[in-house]
Amino acid sequence: MTDRRVYLDHAATTRLLPAAAQAWAAAAAQVGNPSSLHTSGRRARRLVEESRESIAEDLGVRPSEVVFTSGGTEADNLAVKGFAWLGDPLGRQGSRRRILASPIEHHAVLDAVLWLQEQGQPVEWIPVDALGRVDLDYLQQHLDSDVALCTVMWANNEVGTVQPVADIAAACREAGVPFHSDAVQALGALPLDLTLPGLTSVALSGHKIGAPVGVGALILDRDAALVPLQHGGGQEREVRSGTVDAASIAAFAVAVHEAVTEQVVSAAHMAMLRDRLIEGITGLAPDAVVNGDLVDRLPGNVHVTFPGCEGDALLMLLDAAGVECSTGSACTSGIPEPSHVLIAMGVDPRTARGSLRFSLSRNSTDADVDRVLEVLPAVLDRAARASSPRLRSRV
Ligand code: PLP
Repeated sequence: MTDRRVYLDHAATTRLLPAAAQAWAAAAAQVGNPSSLHTSGRRARRLVEESRESIAEDLGVRPSEVVFTSGGTEADNLAVKGFAWLGDPLGRQGSRRRILASPIEHHAVLDAVLWLQEQGQPVEWIPVDALGRVDLDYLQQHLDSDVALCTVMWANNEVGTVQPVADIAAACREAGVPFHSDAVQALGALPLDLTLPGLTSVALSGHKIGAPVGVGALILDRDAALVPLQHGGGQEREVRSGTVDAASIAAFAVAVHEAVTEQVVSAAHMAMLRDRLIEGITGLAPDAVVNGDLVDRLPGNVHVTFPGCEGDALLMLLDAAGVECSTGSACTSGIPEPSHVLIAMGVDPRTARGSLRFSLSRNSTDADVDRVLEVLPAVLDRAARASSPRLRSRV
């Protein structure tokens, strides 16, 4: 038995990159509000603007299209509510009221849309198939001039399915509808073309790519307008107020650069490990079901359902054996909820609860995969024995 811990939860958060930590420390050692006019303020402003330019260049967008936020959640909320409120000003029943959304969005989008729905805004949920791909025909048929926003994530954080973003963007462009895509899990994993015609905004998060927690961006088309979430100094293009965190932004720029320049090599490495892990797991547990699209899939995602097991039990047993992963779904009030993503894909709630997500990074190794495969048989055996009475009682 070794003490080495195997961390395979990089989709939740990943390690701070040494170069990003260095950039953060150098910037944090300096005082200065980027909005101040004195020398220290101007130095901080220069750092923010240089970081913005670097990110814009890496992503192929204009610097003015990079709106810094506190992370992916804020970027998603800003886009979803901002476009919805623009089309349907509060209490005024605007002409663009409908929202088209996929039902497998991260909670940062999903709960924002559900909240708007509770406020009376009409929402249509775009069906997804058993692999988690949105129904393009449905989407095209329901796009019209009364749609305030279409929101479909670039790649799913639970099951890893990649959406046909270029086709969705083209359809939205044709209909003149703003299209927001949450690319938090896609950055660094997939080649991202943020200049796609019809793509209006994209959410990014720093801590998924080696920047500190608490920084991210909304990439917002220069011609797009939206209603701000919070009011104040209007620091970020008048759509986002609040003093920006210059040190975290400097670190974010370093991480974006690494993510983009290393993407091809990282993706190939992760895909090789992913396929080994999938093959190994299905070899050990022939009734295990790999969820999501096996082809259009995030290179670092392995999401598996083990029928007859509880995901939470599997997770804790793996943790005790030194392997850290996730069930992939949110757990509220201590009661394990079946994943809304799997439910939308047609998996029955009881089966859905027996799921695990292993998420790799470019620093993951063959030894990490070997360790999972080494401990898994005993873990599955114990989890099946522990879980089955509870599962039976819930039927
Ligand atoms: N969107 C997706 C797809 C995510 O996976 C996450 C985080 O898990 C978020 C949004 C939220 O990002 P943040 O943690 O930066 O708020």
